[in-house]
Amino acid sequence: MKLSKTNYLVYRDCAHNAWVKVHKPEVYRAEPLSVFEQAIIEIGNDVDVRARQLFPGGILIRRGDAVGTAQLVAERAQILYQPVFETERYTTACDILVWNGTSGAYDLYEVKASTSGDDRKAKDDLYAHDIAFQALVLRENGVPLGRLHLVRLNGDYVSDGTLDIDRLFTREDFTDRATPLFETVASEMDAAHDLIQLAALPAPPCTCIYKGRSSQCTTFAYINPEVPDYSVHDLTRIGTSPKKLKALVNDGILAITDVPADFDLSLPQRHQVEAAQRRRPYVDLAPLEAFLSEIRYPIAFLDYETFPCALPRFAGYGPFNHVPFQFSMHVVTEPDGEPIHREFLYTDTDCPDQPFIDALKRAIPAEGSVIVWNKPFERGINAKLAERQPHEQAFLDNVNGRIIDLMDVFSAQMVVHPGFHGKTSIKWVLPALVPRLSYKGLAIQEGATASETWNKIVTGELEPAEASEAARNLLTYCGLDSLAMLEIWRALLAIVAAREIREAG
Ligand code: SF4
Repeated sequence: MKLSKTNYLVYRDCAHNAWVKVHKPEVYRAEPLSVFEQAIIEIGNDVDVRARQLFPGGILIRRGDAVGTAQLVAERAQILYQPVFETERYTTACDILVWNGTSGAYDLYEVKASTSGDDRKAKDDLYAHDIAFQALVLRENGVPLGRLHLVRLNGDYVSDGTLDIDRLFTREDFTDRATPLFETVASEMDAAHDLIQLAALPAPPCTCIYKGRSSQCTTFAYINPEVPDYSVHDLTRIGTSPKKLKALVNDGILAITDVPADFDLSLPQRHQVEAAQRRRPYVDLAPLEAFLSEIRYPIAFLDYETFPCALPRFAGYGPFNHVPFQFSMHVVTEPDGEPIHREFLYTDTDCPDQPFIDALKRAIPAEGSVIVWNKPFERGINAKLAERQPHEQAFLDNVNGRIIDLMDVFSAQMVVHPGFHGKTSIKWVLPALVPRLSYKGLAIQEGATASETWNKIVTGELEPAEASEAARNLLTYCGLDSLAMLEIWRALLAIVAAREIREAG
């Protein structure tokens, strides 16, 4: 069995996971690709295709056609897209190979659908290994190899309404980063190749048994069937206390309900364990009351939906800037008052910025609190809108100044419910606090699907009847997001009221 570049990169993250990917694909991919994962693949493909315009006139190689590639390389074809190379043990496809007449060698261009963001160092290391893998396979194929380049999206690029391909991408010479890795990568490739030939899962066991939930991959449950769904790995911030987690696991304490009363935990972790053991919520009344007392009427519960566009579509946008295309708002002027629902969805193909702001101005009360879930998101969208539409800066600053993040109640552990399973996402909080409301059964159940649905509408991928239904589904989904916040807020008021009555009694 040949080792592909993708499987080599998975191996570098985790040998167990690479083995499961190859031998148990049904476990590795137990769920069909999520809309988010599909979108990432499609974004990568779009960016690859667009980057070819940097080197026009090339020959696109058919998927898997190593023989055709070899023939064209032997003929010194000038530019090849997606050339495929194989050796006895390895297989890889490159993005772009360009014949350099001056050096008498092929220059390699690896295209990445990413910008050089905050995690640049980690990404660059990964890309250098990725390029080194390709270079070694090409070298074994006898391809004369020149410089090794990385092509990625330019995070500083701002579109004027058209795409300037030369400015949209950066080309970086990675030769001096990838070449020193050749020896290491060659031995890793050997080890990875040998590992995937094994008929059984390699020992020692999965090391993520000693890591928090966020470090674990999708095969954790398969490799560790004895770990329950809600386990000590879900303890808040346990990933930063590996000694504690190790002590629990080594003592065979896996279920969160089995953590002993005398085990050394932080206060939030202890509240989480006690809530699970008693099967009732823990409430930190004083900070919860203080939080709720900050909220001013009229209250607007506000949720945005956006589309992160890798290739800027409109003037003022850069790579991966979010296009705000929808909002839903529920407004109340008293706790039990009938909410007024306002919503906006833009399905025309031009830029929605100004229509979005205009609709927001019409919908949002001039004063009072604006409640969101995870405020950096809505605030960030407003800030970007203000950058692109500076004449709206005062309005958008005013909205941002009134934003209160309802998620703070849960991330600050003012309320800990056993049904949250240590999570603070609205998708976990809502069914625990407001069981009559649920995302289950909706055609759209999360933001990535909403984004992709909108994209399909505006790019004409859907027939008119499908597009109308998709728009209705978007309105239902976003409408539930803002209603969910309203009902969670009401549930919090009820919790406080019940506690006050109990304490008074
Ligand atoms: S859970 Fe961790 S150690 Fe286990 S297979 Fe996944 S990445 Fe590897």
